Amino acid sequence: MMGLNFRELPDLVRKLQKMKVDGIYFQPIEPIYNSRQTFPELKKSALWIPPKDKNEALRIVNELIALKQAGAPIINEKSNLEDLKDYFELRSEDKRIHPKKCEIDLSNLFLVPDGSISFCGTYPAIGNIKKDRIYAALSSPFATFLRKRIRNCGMIKTCMSTCKINKSLFQQARMFLMLNK
Ligand code: SF4
Repeated sequence: MMGLNFRELPDLVRKLQKMKVDGIYFQPIEPIYNSRQTFPELKKSALWIPPKDKNEALRIVNELIALKQAGAPIINEKSNLEDLKDYFELRSEDKRIHPKKCEIDLSNLFLVPDGSISFCGTYPAIGNIKKDRIYAALSSPFATFLRKRIRNCGMIKTCMSTCKINKSLFQQARMFLMLNK
């Protein structure tokens, strides 16, 4: 989701529903991974939702929530869609509850097209499946070092990757059932 495409999302959901797609997971635009782009720089770019479009974007997010509540195949939890309003600063009061520490390394593992294995795209890879066994990469001294850095990551307040948001056991179970029906 970003400034250039947010208007198309409800129609996209309706189209996917007609196609009987299992689900769609919305991911808000973030600073480019493994780059020097900062969050303030992203907010100045054309990819961010500009102030003149905030009311429209708020209406669109509410429409997505209504679609989800009506049974559309949106995987994001309602609370996650609500968080989008604060992430894009669509309402005056920020209602997000920020986790104090990131625990991405306990719940996610990314395998990217070049074979890299990583906990989070913001940090270096812990190995590569072309040459490393995943268990060895996960338990290496470098992985232990990164886990400590992740636990104290300074981006915790702005990080909004939907794949990285802490999910309750209930949310994880729902997602599992939805993707395996
Ligand atoms: S808060 Fe966690 S998921 Fe977000 S950038 Fe930091 S380590 Fe990665």
